[in-house]
Amino acid sequence: MMTKLFYSLLVLLISVQVSANSLPKQAAIPGGVVIVPLSASAMGKPKVMYGDEKVAVVQHERKWVAIVGVPLSAKTGAQSLSATQNGKTRKILFHIEDKAYPTQHITIADKRKVNPNKLDMTRIKSESAIINAALSHWTEKSVLPLPFMWPLEGRVSGLYGRRRIFNGQSRRPHSGMDIAAPTGTEIQAPAEGTIREVGNYFFNGNTIFIDHGQGLMTIFCHLNRTDVVLGQTVSRGEVIGTVGMTGRVTGPHLHLGVSLNDTRVEPRLFFPAR
Ligand code: ZN
Repeated sequence: MMTKLFYSLLVLLISVQVSANSLPKQAAIPGGVVIVPLSASAMGKPKVMYGDEKVAVVQHERKWVAIVGVPLSAKTGAQSLSATQNGKTRKILFHIEDKAYPTQHITIADKRKVNPNKLDMTRIKSESAIINAALSHWTEKSVLPLPFMWPLEGRVSGLYGRRRIFNGQSRRPHSGMDIAAPTGTEIQAPAEGTIREVGNYFFNGNTIFIDHGQGLMTIFCHLNRTDVVLGQTVSRGEVIGTVGMTGRVTGPHLHLGVSLNDTRVEPRLFFPAR
C-alpha cells in the first residue's frame, strides 16, 4: 500500500517537473526575446512562423506559447507571427520597443581580420554557408532545457548588441557576449544538446554550436581547444573545450552566443542573473 502511494507520488512529482517548462526572460526589444501566448494546450501544438523562420513553441501554464527571437535589425512597433493549428492559420501581433545599444571602438592588430583579402573572402563565404546551415537546423523537442547554466566563470568583457567600430571602420553589431578568462579555462555545456557543428572559422576561430532543440542553439567562439565532434550529444556541465584567442580577438575570451529561430539574441535572457 505504502509502496503504491510512494510510486504514485513519484510519478506525480516527475510529471510536474516535465510540465514545468521554464521560459527565457522576456525583452520586447530588437535583439530580445518575446513570449507570445497562443492557445490552450489541450489543443494540438500550433506551428508558428516568424517571417521565413519556424519558431519554438512550448507548453507553459496550460497554454502553448511561442518563444520568438527578435533580430537587432527589427523595426520597433507591431511584428507579426503566423500560427497554424488544426488546419487554420491566423496572424498574431506582438510589439517591440526601441532600444539604443551603445557603440564600442576596438583596435585589431591583424588588419586582415578587419579588411580580409580576396582569398579570405572566399573562405568567409564558404564558412558562412556552413554556419547558416547549422543555425537554421530544426530538431523537434517538446521541452527546452532552460534555464542554461553559465559555461564558465569570468568577467563580462563585451555585451551583446554593441555597435562596433574596428580600426575606425563600422562592422556588424556584437551578436553575443564576451567573457574574459585565461587561455585553457574549461567551457561547460550550458544544457544538454547535440553538437550541430564544430569548425575553425576566419572571424570566430575554433567554434562549437550546440543544438538544444526547436531552433535554440548556443555558440562558443575563439576556443583554444574543442573536445567534441559533430553529432555528439552532450550533457549539462560536460566540458566541450577551452578558452582561447583564435579568430578576430584582442585577448583570450569566450564569445558566447544564443540563437533562436536563426536569430542571434541577448544571451543573458537564458541564464541566471550574475
Ligand atoms: Zn564576442
